Amino acid sequence: MSAQTTYSFFESVEKSFDKAALFTKWDNGILEQIKACNSVYRMNFPIKRDDGSIEVVEAYRVQHSQHKSPCKGGIRFSHAVNQDEVMALAALMTYKCAIVNVPFGGAKGGIKISPRNYSVYELEKITRRYTSELVKKNFIGPGIDVPAPDYGTGEREMSWIVDTYQSLKPGEIDAAGCVTGKPITQGGVRGRKEATGLGVFYGVREVCNMPDVMKRLGLTVGVAGKKVVVQGLGNVGYHSAKFFRENGAIIIAIAEHDGAVYNANGINEEDLLQFRIKTGSVVNFPGATMLAQTSDALELECDILIPAALENVINGDNAPRIKAKIIGEAANGPCTPEADEIFIEKGILCVPDMYLNAGGVTVSYFEWLKNLSHVRYGRLEKRFTENLNARILAQIEELKGEPVVDKERQIIMHGAEEIDLVHSGLEETMINATREIMDIWHSNPGIPDMRTAAYVSAINKVAITYTELGIFP
Ligand code: NAD
Repeated sequence: MSAQTTYSFFESVEKSFDKAALFTKWDNGILEQIKACNSVYRMNFPIKRDDGSIEVVEAYRVQHSQHKSPCKGGIRFSHAVNQDEVMALAALMTYKCAIVNVPFGGAKGGIKISPRNYSVYELEKITRRYTSELVKKNFIGPGIDVPAPDYGTGEREMSWIVDTYQSLKPGEIDAAGCVTGKPITQGGVRGRKEATGLGVFYGVREVCNMPDVMKRLGLTVGVAGKKVVVQGLGNVGYHSAKFFRENGAIIIAIAEHDGAVYNANGINEEDLLQFRIKTGSVVNFPGATMLAQTSDALELECDILIPAALENVINGDNAPRIKAKIIGEAANGPCTPEADEIFIEKGILCVPDMYLNAGGVTVSYFEWLKNLSHVRYGRLEKRFTENLNARILAQIEELKGEPVVDKERQIIMHGAEEIDLVHSGLEETMINATREIMDIWHSNPGIPDMRTAAYVSAINKVAITYTELGIFP
């Protein structure tokens, strides 16, 4: 197949799936069922703009798989939303949840608007109307389908959704579990906001800690000192950059839609964010140079490239010019199948989206569990652990004949709070998923790349559920 062939996003996902399916033992019928999008809900609804005009909004909710309930996936606000894109993202959610052992089917939502062109009041009207359309068709609910934030949406939109849902379903005791990514005050969980970026960091760190993998790439073991480029300073890009920097990596460039900033000695993502909030743009950020085009950042000499904006940004055209040794797919679908072929030729390691950015859905799962159990993590055991640790510490000090130093004392005494448990659950999930995928890859010499290994892991897990359900007797 020539490098010029282009695929739609959903076709790209199907192509990667088919490539991986060759390394599994499942019948074609099961594979076809796993691949298919079970339900596609396309809607149009009118809203009245602030100037009094009426606008018809196009929106989607796709439920790719109900092999586990509820199904789960973010809601995207973007002018580029279309049915193919939402279907692809919903399919990726199915595979993502399976890989990280989150017991949900895959779904995704999209509203075809550019949020920058709407007032907050208009956005609220659109979000609330979208939610009520989902309620009408039974496409949302803690046991049915649970949305979350995605590109162009955040805590604010999630709180509008939960409020609309609760007002339409009075008395539903688990209603807070109808959506995740909510503010803490509305039933959110601590650690959700940074979860995807932190998960990206944990996943790439685990890869960087594998001596044989680093040797193959000609890199030293560990994250510290590695040169990193990040595309997108939104939720995922900002937090990815933050955790890489805090752990000793050097963020040499950050690209936004209106420009890319470069500094070989490092960029502080928080300073850049504050600058953008103040001026409305990253352009002319002090202490950094602007690249000629924002997409040039992708082609810089670096160790790790983190695309954290949109899909298809690395494709057959620019992949030959990519110089990074590792690509950590923080966004969904940033690299096309043509790019994958070029990475294999060039020996670039692409750590795939379908598990690397699963931090969001993993912590969303923790949030959903919190909503169903109606209790904050750590509430029951924190004090008990601290009392116990105090007694153990007293015994240690008595045996030692001297007090333990203050810093150590604080660490030993500390009983786990919600944020500690969420971060620890996320770290465990990302490390296990990375090792599992690497094992599949390395134990089957025919598997060409990590993405295919990740798909093999996902296909096996979903197929087992289908066969156990007795759907294919
Ligand atoms: P976001 O809206 O918070 O941020 C996206 C950022 O990308 C924005 O700042 C935008 O200006 C920037 N951008 C747009 N076009 C660009 C371009 N051409 N070059 C550089 N920057 C550009 O969205 P997000 O939640 O951070 O999501 C980003 C990606 O991560 C999406 O692909 C999304 O599907 C994926 N993702 C998000 C989550 C989550 O928890 N938010 C979870 C999994 C995957």
